[in-house]
Amino acid sequence: MKAQMAALEAQIKQIKRELTALGDLRPGSLSQQFNVCGSPGCRCKASPAQKHGPYYQLSYTRKGKGGTRFVKKEDVAATEAAIANYVRCRDLIDRWIDLATELCDLKLEPRAAGRTPPKRA
Ligand SMILES: [Zn+2]
Repeated sequence: MKAQMAALEAQIKQIKRELTALGDLRPGSLSQQFNVCGSPGCRCKASPAQKHGPYYQLSYTRKGKGGTRFVKKEDVAATEAAIANYVRCRDLIDRWIDLATELCDLKLEPRAAGRTPPKRA
């Protein structure tokens, strides 16, 4: 059991290291929008239509509140990286919770079996 606990602790340590190394993060997803303008005779009203765009829109939900905002073309790469970091962050924390729960269960086991846990030196 000691070895099992040490293995869990090592995995948790690795997760903490990865979390610390994450850069900017933000929840959401990017989509491309194509628009039609108000100018008569514009190419966006031709047949076939050549709509304006793409415009990049970030949609997100945070603490039950949703929102959208436009992202400039030059900021798309950084925004995509931040979105990927957010997903990674959630995955790592999920994994951390699973491992920590397993570790806590192991620590509780001696008492649950009616034995006292070993005394720490
Ligand atoms: Zn137009």
